[in-house]
Amino acid sequence: MENIIVIGAGPSGLMAAIQASYHGASVTVLERNDKPLKKLYATGNGRCNFSNLYMDDRVYRGAHPEFALRVMENFDRNDLLLFFHNLGMMTKHIGDYIYPYNEQARTVADVLLLECRRLKIDVRCGEDVVDITNDGDFTVRTAEREYRSRKLIVAAGGKASPAHGSDGSLNRVIEGMGVDFESPQRALVPLLYSEKGLSRLAGVRVKCSVSLLVDGSKVTGEQGEIIINKDNISGIPIMQMSRYATQALKKKASVSVSVDLFPDEDEDGVNRLIYNAFKGYRYAVAVMEEGQRKTDVRYDRACVDALSLLLNEKLAMYCLKIADIVPDSLSVKVPDKKLKELSGILKDLKVSICGDAGWERAQVTAGGVNTQGLTDKLESVKVPGLYITGELCDIDGTCGGYNLQWAFSSGAVAGRDAALLRM
Ligand SMILES: Cc1cc2nc3c(=O)[nH]c(=O)nc-3n(C[C@H](O)[C@H](O)[C@H](O)COP(=O)(O)OP(=O)(O)OC[C@H]3O[C@@H](n4cnc5c(N)ncnc54)[C@H](O)[C@@H]3O)c2cc1C
Repeated sequence: MENIIVIGAGPSGLMAAIQASYHGASVTVLERNDKPLKKLYATGNGRCNFSNLYMDDRVYRGAHPEFALRVMENFDRNDLLLFFHNLGMMTKHIGDYIYPYNEQARTVADVLLLECRRLKIDVRCGEDVVDITNDGDFTVRTAEREYRSRKLIVAAGGKASPAHGSDGSLNRVIEGMGVDFESPQRALVPLLYSEKGLSRLAGVRVKCSVSLLVDGSKVTGEQGEIIINKDNISGIPIMQMSRYATQALKKKASVSVSVDLFPDEDEDGVNRLIYNAFKGYRYAVAVMEEGQRKTDVRYDRACVDALSLLLNEKLAMYCLKIADIVPDSLSVKVPDKKLKELSGILKDLKVSICGDAGWERAQVTAGGVNTQGLTDKLESVKVPGLYITGELCDIDGTCGGYNLQWAFSSGAVAGRDAALLRM
């Protein structure tokens, strides 16, 4: 009988196996894919942003996000950096985001796998676990074999990105053992929009601030670059808000995103920019300072060219359409009232959200094993000897390396504990 079986050769499972092995356990890892760490290679666009210099309780979400920080008291960012440095993998940070020094996810995978080999951890690929039973020890069944172990660490991931192996297929089995779940939802996922005209803007990137509105009220807000795609909007700010959007959509609430295209300007500032672009500088000053004559207007600019002085041209066309301004008409002829209206649209461009891009495009799962049913060492309260780690837990991080940090930290803490206690 093995001391410990780990289900899932993702970052969390392999870290658990390595730490358990450091503490004297013999470990077998069962992985359904034909190779380990398939998802890790895709992280951070192949660069693997695995942690972050900034850390507080707002970067994790879930029913009990504070659980993540409690777990990390026993294996935090510095422990992870030290772990990698000891394996010869240097790291660097770009802004607050932490990467391997060469910005290659492959390197992270290589050092983990090399360490598994050195420790003689038996990583068995092509082993799809279909059932688990517990009679004090654990019996783990794959399609063709049966394994027995004293301790079991389930690091099978969530439901996000099933092409990389994680699809929640073990959730029922784990639930059947008495473990409570928060219903899994997609998070860090692009949001689908209803506005037909927006698809013409596919490929446009805009720096802006965005607010998520549920039934008309603001739920959360973010700032950064959003990307308009053929049927969805993405980019870090949208991905971060998406978990709240998917939850609201599930409850059939009306969901929209309000885009402020000029987050650094107040209404007056935007007005001034618009008047300047459409009618000339002195006119803009005059509009702002009551009582002055409106002089020096320009007579040579079409509306689309005027607005394109401030915005991407495709986006300018789109906003003019919403404001009901003919793009080719002379900018100077647009009434002041209309320009005010246009300024309002630029500060609050509404995008109706009708869905999300699905599990295939989701980067992470919100929901999962209820962390109140776990000790701070990730052991199930109801099923002693059973540990749940990584994305399978009801913890999801915001963008910036927090999900991988959680996967590694929870794996490390569980691996050590499983090896140390009651062997
Ligand atoms: C495209 C993309 C980019 C991302 N980029 C980042 C990033 O830059 N930074 C960041 O922090 N996070 C990122 N993430 C999220 C991060 O990759 C995950 O949160 C993290 O991999 C979770 O680790 P895990 O070990 O818990 O689960 P996973 O990495 O999903 O690993 C679980 C493993 O279990 C295996 N498995 C599942 N079921 C079974 C079964 N029944 N039997 C046997 N094996 C099974 C799976 O095949 C898989 O190998 C990204 C995710 C995606 C999809």
